[in-house]
Amino acid sequence: MSAAASFGVGLAHSKEIILPKIDESIERELTNFLPEEWLPSVCGLCRAGCSMLVRKVNGKVTGVKGNKRNEISKGALCPKGFAGLQYQFHPQRIYSPLIRKGEGGSPDSFQKISWAEAFDLILERLIKLRTTNRANSLIIFSRRKGELEWSMARHFADVYGTPNLIEYDMPNDFLLSEAIYKTSGIKGDLSFDFSSANLIVSFGNDWLQTYRDFVSANRGYAQSKTSQPDVRSKIIQIEPRYSITAMKSDRWIKCNPAEEGMAVLGVVFYMIISGNYDTEFANDYIENFDDLKESISKINFDRIVEITGISEMEFRYITRELASAKPAIAIGRRTDLFSQGLILLINILTGSFNQLGGAWIIPHDDALLFNKSLDPTARSGLSKVSLTKNSLNMIKVLERIIEKDPYRVDAAFFCNVNPVYNYPGLGADAIKGIPFSVTFSNFLDETALYSDIILPITTFLEEYEVKINYSLEANRIFSTRKPLILNRDVMSTADIFLTMGKNIKEIRNNFLWDNSKEIYEDYIRKTFDSDPEIRARLEGYNEFERSARDRGILIPRREIKIDKLDFKFLKDINLDRIKNNRDTLKLLIYFPSGFNDFEGCQMPYLLDTIGSHLNSIWEFFVEVNPFTAEKYNLKGESIVYIENQDGKNIRARVKIFNGIMDNVIAAPIGLGRSGEFGLTKGIGDNPLKLMPKSFSEFVFPVFGFSEVRITNAK
Ligand code: SF4
Repeated sequence: MSAAASFGVGLAHSKEIILPKIDESIERELTNFLPEEWLPSVCGLCRAGCSMLVRKVNGKVTGVKGNKRNEISKGALCPKGFAGLQYQFHPQRIYSPLIRKGEGGSPDSFQKISWAEAFDLILERLIKLRTTNRANSLIIFSRRKGELEWSMARHFADVYGTPNLIEYDMPNDFLLSEAIYKTSGIKGDLSFDFSSANLIVSFGNDWLQTYRDFVSANRGYAQSKTSQPDVRSKIIQIEPRYSITAMKSDRWIKCNPAEEGMAVLGVVFYMIISGNYDTEFANDYIENFDDLKESISKINFDRIVEITGISEMEFRYITRELASAKPAIAIGRRTDLFSQGLILLINILTGSFNQLGGAWIIPHDDALLFNKSLDPTARSGLSKVSLTKNSLNMIKVLERIIEKDPYRVDAAFFCNVNPVYNYPGLGADAIKGIPFSVTFSNFLDETALYSDIILPITTFLEEYEVKINYSLEANRIFSTRKPLILNRDVMSTADIFLTMGKNIKEIRNNFLWDNSKEIYEDYIRKTFDSDPEIRARLEGYNEFERSARDRGILIPRREIKIDKLDFKFLKDINLDRIKNNRDTLKLLIYFPSGFNDFEGCQMPYLLDTIGSHLNSIWEFFVEVNPFTAEKYNLKGESIVYIENQDGKNIRARVKIFNGIMDNVIAAPIGLGRSGEFGLTKGIGDNPLKLMPKSFSEFVFPVFGFSEVRITNAK
């Protein structure tokens, strides 16, 4: 039964579930079309939220292009955005709720059920948890790709009574935020103003290919090369692989894999002992700077040269460039907390922190709060400690679920997130230990395959949503989208939370909207009413909504108060932890364009790009330097096994590549999917499987490297 068919209809099974009311206005709009039209939308395939125009011919969506009117994307889209319709119309999309009747991990274990039946089962669990005063044992993971979805998740979590709404982040994303939080107490991120910087020093970040706002980064690069006739910005790229950014840089400096953090330390050391830093900034922003200076200046610099493979002369060169090219940015590979702390520190020392052409701290936006009343059960649940324990570290959260620390998780919602693929081993172990889990997804992905119930959700072309993102200059852009395709078989995440809220008697007074359209309107009204600057600029709510949808509304940068940052955790630097392992072979994992948030395998166009530099199509490969190949007796195009120290192995085709250092092999993320993705299923391997399981805050394995063996397959 489709969601539409069941709206408001009495059910054959136990209860009558109140489902969202049909949004008739959108039905009218979408059936009243012109022969050809271009309608504005916001891409939802990653968090960047680029503005796009969608072509409709006789009411059918046939194409997308960038929207030049938008302040951030300014007419550009990344390869994933351009391939977005392949996601939308993918033959393996799911259009019915599913229930698991057999073993987790197999698509054959699932059977279709109606929306009402799915909600009935979910509500039974949710109501039981509340009546036994265990509301806090519900955990909700959400990627925060949209503000409406996030605010509804927040609203539901609060009035239901769980402190466990987790902002799910990819393994490469949360560490910098964690470093900012540890040093400043601000929950936020660093945004890099590539467009106005005179110098960009990247410590292992292939930012032209994998920056989380890919389109802005590339536009910033183009702008920095052309905007001032007399100044051409310079890029220094430090990493073991000749990446896209290394190719476009002015200087590529090789560094041993996963030791880019040490390279930052080497530069910080040189800045400090040579006095080549901005004293005013250092004193203004750094707590106990003299102590920090003293501990860093005692570091054994020769050991850093040895660990990184970067010569002293090169360290001097980078330091000199940073000292003479204000404004300048240092960006790092998001590996471990220690490296991220140093990245923050180096940006302060250059004197370009929180300035045009520098690195800005952007605090995470609070969820917009809807009016709510909390009953005693909700208040009791919210008073319990959260599984995050006030940290942003996703790995710790997954470990706590497994260890039942500080309590058992009884139910979980995975809202369009995929920990089983993103955190191999850990993600599956966590979900297997949860008695009841529900995944909100468009596909039978790896996490959905272990869930008890799967709810099919809308794509960005089928839903109301609000997006807040930031320009390179740290201005806020507020944009929105409306459904351009009517799909009654699926539900938006906001509608799912609304339905759950409406059907739990004690909390239903907090869910008075009829559907997500009403939530969207409420959200926009509240935003408009709360901002005097917007009210002065725009005629009224309707103009605000139209402009936000058409081109996005620029809200000038907010001044944020930043107290002194406390880098005391950097005093734990211990160079002895680093082994002398020059002779071992290391596997480095990298992100091809469009796979920066791991997803993309649903789009054949994107898969074509993974190995294009090596003439490899839809095949998993490993890049091997010619000297390494000779040492290990490997031939180009041959098949090898790569095995880690735990005995786990993956299979790959050897591609001889001069752009990778000797003794390092590199493999791309993107293939190796066990979820139901049609043509992609079963092709290649997921190199994340070889990353060591154990980690500490100071050595983060997933984006570090793994020591491996490589052998020819028989
Ligand atoms: S960067 Fe690409 S995937 Fe992300 S929002 Fe923009 S176009 Fe979409």
